[in-house]
Amino acid sequence: MTFAMQERPGEFTSFEFAEGVPAPFNMALAILSNTEMLTLEEKVKMVPGLLPMLLEGQSFIDAQDELSVLQFMRKYGMPERINEEIFIAMGKALDFIDPDKLSMTVVLTAMNRFLNEDNGLQMAFLDGNQPDRLCAPMQAHIEARGGEVRTCAPVQEIQTAEDGSVSGLLMRDGSVITADVYVSAMPVDIFKRMTPKRWANMPYFRQFDELEGIPVINLHMWFDRKLKAVDHLCFSRSPLLSVYADMSVTCKEYYDTEKSMLELVFAPCSPLAGGNVNWIAKSDEEIIDATMGELARLFPTEIANDERWPSTQQQGPSGQAKLRKYAVVKTPRSVYAAIPGRNKYRPSQETPIPNLVLAGDWTSQKFLGSMEGAILGGKLAAEVIVDRSIGQKTKGLKEVQPHVVSAAASFEANEPRGVKGEGAIAFGAGAVLSKDGMNLLREQDAEQFDGETPDAPPAATAEPEAVAA
Ligand SMILES: Cc1cc2nc3c(=O)[nH]c(=O)nc-3n(C[C@H](O)[C@H](O)[C@H](O)COP(=O)(O)OP(=O)(O)OC[C@H]3O[C@@H](n4cnc5c(N)ncnc54)[C@H](O)[C@@H]3O)c2cc1C
Repeated sequence: MTFAMQERPGEFTSFEFAEGVPAPFNMALAILSNTEMLTLEEKVKMVPGLLPMLLEGQSFIDAQDELSVLQFMRKYGMPERINEEIFIAMGKALDFIDPDKLSMTVVLTAMNRFLNEDNGLQMAFLDGNQPDRLCAPMQAHIEARGGEVRTCAPVQEIQTAEDGSVSGLLMRDGSVITADVYVSAMPVDIFKRMTPKRWANMPYFRQFDELEGIPVINLHMWFDRKLKAVDHLCFSRSPLLSVYADMSVTCKEYYDTEKSMLELVFAPCSPLAGGNVNWIAKSDEEIIDATMGELARLFPTEIANDERWPSTQQQGPSGQAKLRKYAVVKTPRSVYAAIPGRNKYRPSQETPIPNLVLAGDWTSQKFLGSMEGAILGGKLAAEVIVDRSIGQKTKGLKEVQPHVVSAAASFEANEPRGVKGEGAIAFGAGAVLSKDGMNLLREQDAEQFDGETPDAPPAATAEPEAVAA
């Protein structure tokens, strides 16, 4: 794990997990051998909080979901500096949230992997873009077995039969798809808008009200020369930025010996995530300017004073690197917000509807809202289908919280609101926004903040022209 040094701008420090040393000794060694971030006393004071996880395992981790990271730290007497040095960076990287809002289960889940698996900390980059390097091989695999993959084919409505089972999927193009079994891997925010009226009073579906996607922004920034590059994912330690990587060194497709291309996660970017500015509603220029200010701290001798970006005004003459072009990808509802107490509302893949199964990172599985979590959610969904189809007993529905069960009966069921618009944002993915996208975002913001947008309405966005500049 590579961290930018807060006190020494432009410098980095790492926790090195030695090869050949088994877990958890490799983690202990990594922590003890790094002397730049925490004192020995601070390291020792981490032990009482982490020891129960080692001894009790998953049950201890699950039980900490009611506490925020800060509450957990105070309960176990961990010094505040551990938060500033480690947990802020981890929280922002794992769930785009600050530690006062983040469930401790998230941090412990990650640490548990480091403690139990020799390669638990291994980080990797795809060697190219996802459509080619990830999606195309999966499509080929499915097609080789007689399957068909349709993209840009959104579901408009889940249709139900008298008995409550799914009777078909009405697609945006007006066609209806029928099947033996239906698997939804849609994000929770989308599923909530699609829940058929017939199911609206069922406690299983009402628990989804307790889950909500967190906003995040992803930035792509092309520079006109090489910045001091680390061949790894870096924790920026900046109040506005989470992790970033110089793709010109970490990723084969972007490899460039002359010019850097940074990809950064901008977080927290809304009050829900612990920030005090609703950045997701800001213009791309405001976001990039704020980021340039933070990059000037990360690369103090390299970023140029560029009149296009007022936040770089303090840069001295040695700084030469200028931004060539950029893209701002906004995802107003990404992974479910892992604020305290959410795990108990994550549903089992098995649903009370006999021909419907859920998948996706937000369904109940031991990993976080992550790619790995999405895969495990998919495997568990497949297990339910197989068990049901061979008449084998399934693991059963996960218990729904009693307060959800009692409130569900009196819930006033309405027709589903559905999804407006046709862009990526409408379907829960990220997008470089057009004006239409921004309008949709404003509507979603108004919902998310209960009618109150914490900041002025966004200015018109300059994308996608900025990408092509
Ligand atoms: C900026 C950012 C950085 C991240 N970094 C990491 C990382 O480094 N490591 C990691 O493990 N995870 C990371 N994640 C999280 C990871 O991307 C998610 O956990 C993962 O993609 C979830 O997969 P999923 O299949 O559950 O949902 P999604 O990937 O959200 O897929 C849901 C799909 O449903 C589709 N859909 C929605 N509505 C409809 C409809 N009506 N009809 C048809 N289809 C529909 C959507 O278009 C989408 O394709 C990151 C996320 C973001 C936003």
